[in-house]
Parts: sequence; structure tokens; C-alpha cells
Amino acid sequence: MTQIDFKNTEIAFKSLSNVDLKKAKFLFGLFGQKWLMGIGKPLLSFSLTVGLPIKGIIRRTVFHQFCGGEFIEDCVNKINDLAKFNVKTILDYSVEGKNDELDFRNTAREIIATIVKAKGNPKIPFCVFKITGLAPFALLELANDQTELTDVARSELSIVRHRIENICKTAHDAGVPILIDAEDSWIQNTIDRIAEEMMELFNKEKHIVFNTVQLYRHDRLKYIEELHERSVTNGFKPALKIVRGAYMEKERERARKLNYPSPIQSNKEACDSDYNKALEYCMNHYPHFAVCAGTHNEESCEYLTKLMEEKNISPNDELIWFSQLLGMSDNISYNLAKGGYNVAKYVPYGPISEVMPYLMRRAEENSSMEGQTGRELGLIQIEIERRKQL
Ligand SMILES: Cc1cc2nc3c(=O)[nH]c(=O)nc-3n(C[C@H](O)[C@H](O)[C@H](O)COP(=O)(O)OP(=O)(O)OC[C@H]3O[C@@H](n4cnc5c(N)ncnc54)[C@H](O)[C@@H]3O)c2cc1C
Repeated sequence: MTQIDFKNTEIAFKSLSNVDLKKAKFLFGLFGQKWLMGIGKPLLSFSLTVGLPIKGIIRRTVFHQFCGGEFIEDCVNKINDLAKFNVKTILDYSVEGKNDELDFRNTAREIIATIVKAKGNPKIPFCVFKITGLAPFALLELANDQTELTDVARSELSIVRHRIENICKTAHDAGVPILIDAEDSWIQNTIDRIAEEMMELFNKEKHIVFNTVQLYRHDRLKYIEELHERSVTNGFKPALKIVRGAYMEKERERARKLNYPSPIQSNKEACDSDYNKALEYCMNHYPHFAVCAGTHNEESCEYLTKLMEEKNISPNDELIWFSQLLGMSDNISYNLAKGGYNVAKYVPYGPISEVMPYLMRRAEENSSMEGQTGRELGLIQIEIERRKQL
């Protein structure tokens, strides 16, 4: 097995100049300031709402770190820079929180543009979308528990299905696999059902449509087993992005407020254990399943390389991918890619004011010194010191 050293900062940051490294250090240092993060979010929303000229600062800092650009074409340099190190790109149109028909149609058009860009381009092996970018949240929620829908809701849902089918068909015809992100548990049944319908339609010969499972939920291993059974019965190839889950606090809070049992695991260990089991399950049923491990967790990535080795699966097998977000965990992405594994970064893009919810999530996720910020800062500092010794 190619042993991957995730602590190799020389490989991890090879694409960054000394100036880039210092900028990243400054940014992650800011994220570590709890007081600043506390006032930052309301201050940013206020400034953008009243039109204060802060876009330039955002562009040069968080946007530069975590996004490819405002438009697809702006991302080309980033795509090429990543590809020099065998790291591929997943173009992610990250405009969120839209809620009218015109916006949904625009988002669908933009997702199709990413597929067109990816077609025949080995630097862009996947595309991705969120169903909430294409449908009213309230409708997805209404359809979640399959109670009787009104005629109006049924016809609205059929428009949404048609929109998603059009995207998945375009991906299928272009030969570009497409990931469907997982979201809140109170709309996830609707997402799962639509994702499976798409797999039934488009995953007959190849793994084209990928659903996402969040292992911070305690019911997801069962879901994977059921998906497996249905894939055999209905003759399609199941494909999964495997993540821990991004909305833990929100999930717990809603469960508390509405007084139902939380869908979230009782602790991190249970989440980690189910994450590993999900990888094992899919690897035990390789090549029926295709997998994209969306994680910044070194142990999970190492575990997947170990499972691949046990099954004699070559590192660059087209059915197994590792994925991280742009601007985060380069030590994982670049070292795995150097070891010959398939790695693709989510490269979010969109107008600055529209991608703010995405950027705020990244800032929040990176605001604990014990967590991701500590990891990122520590590695950046090691690399700065290493370069000083040269
Ligand atoms: C490429 C990519 C795609 C992604 N796509 C999605 C997506 O479609 N949907 C989505 O929801 N998220 C998605 N995520 C985010 C992901 O779910 C995680 O929030 C994030 O990656 C952090 O988890 P981790 O595996 O990197 O590792 P770690 O840093 O080891 O784990 C942190 C995660 O563990 C879980 N956790 C932490 N504490 C506890 C606890 N006490 N009890 C239970 N669980 C706990 C939470 O999920 C938390 O986010 C994606 C991430 C990546 C890299």
C-alpha cells in the first residue's frame, strides 16, 4: 500500500507561495478569535444589506480562500492549479436561500452549465447540486412524510422532479457523475426518494447519480442496507457520497423545540464508528456501490485506503473518490493525490453576496481552535517554519 503521510506539509502546500501561506495563516488566525466571530456574522449581514463597500475585503480574504470565483469561467485558473497536483474539481454553484420559481430555473440552468463544462474534461470528474436550490423548502418538507398532498402540491412536486430529471439526464448523456447533497432531516426523505428515482433512471450501466448519507444520523446504516436491497430489486447501481453531516446543532435544536427524538448520534464516537461502517459496507459490496468520501477526517481517509488495499482495489479505481472543500484540509487532498488516489475538491462559486451563507458556514466550522482551525493553523505554521529552514 502507498502509505499516505498526511503531515507532509511540503506536498500539502506546494501550490501556495509564501505570501499565500501568510494570508491563510492570517485568515485562520482570525477564525480562531471567538469575540470576532461573534460580532462578525451580524456585522457582515448588516454591511451587505445597507451596501457598505466591504465586498473587496471579502473577495481578498474568505472568498479567495474558499471560492473559485463569481462565475464558472473565473474558476478556470483554480481548476488548472489543482490539476497540476492531480487534484480534480467539483464545480459547486453555491447560491443558497432562494425561494422563487425564477431563481430555481436560473440555478438549474447554472448546474447544467457546470455539466457542459465538465463534459469530456478529466479535471472536472463530478458535478453537484442541492435540491433546496431547485425547489421551495416548504414543498420538500410537506412531501417528506408522504402524507396526502393537495393537487397543487403534487403538481409543484412534479415540476421539481422534472427539473431534477433534466439535470440528471444531462449528466447521464454527458457521462458526468453528479452528486446530490444531503440536507436537513425533515426534508431528507423527499431528497432520498428523488435521488433514488434518478438512480433507477440513470444508473443502469454506470454510477451517474450519487445520493449523500450523513452518518451523524443514527439511522443511516439501515438506509444504506435498504438502498442496497432496492438497487438489486430495481436493477440500478447505487452510488453514495459519505459524509458526517453539517447541520448537527440545527437538528438537535429543532428536535428539542418540537419535542421529538433527535436523529443525531449521541456522541462523536458513534458518528465516527458509523462512518467507518458505511465505508466498510460499500467496500464489501464493491463494485456494486460507488463511493465518494466527503471528509476532512484523516483517520476516515486512511481507513478507506486500508479497505481498498484489503480488497485489492487500485488507488485510482474510478468508483472510489475522496473529496474535500477548497481551502480546507489540503494536507489530505494533496497527499492522497500524490499517492495516486482519486481526489476532487468542491470549488464553490457564485456572486459574493449570494455565497455568503456558504462562507459563513465555513467561518463557523473553522472557528474552534481545538477543531479545524487548530488543524489548519498548525499545519500552515509547520510549513512556514519548514520553508524558513531552506
Ligand atoms: C466534499 C464534502 C462534501 C460534503 N457534503 C455534505 C452534504 O452533502 N451534506 C452535509 O450535511 N454535509 C456535507 N459535508 C460536510 C460534512 O458533513 C461535515 O460537516 C464536515 O466535513 C466535517 O466532518 P468530517 O468528516 O470532515 O470530520 P470531523 O471533523 O472528524 O467531524 C466533525 C463532524 O462530526 C460530527 N459530530 C461532531 N460532534 C458530534 C457529536 N457530539 N455527535 C455526533 N456527531 C458529531 C458532525 O457531523 C461534525 O460536522 C461535506 C463535506 C465535504 C468535505
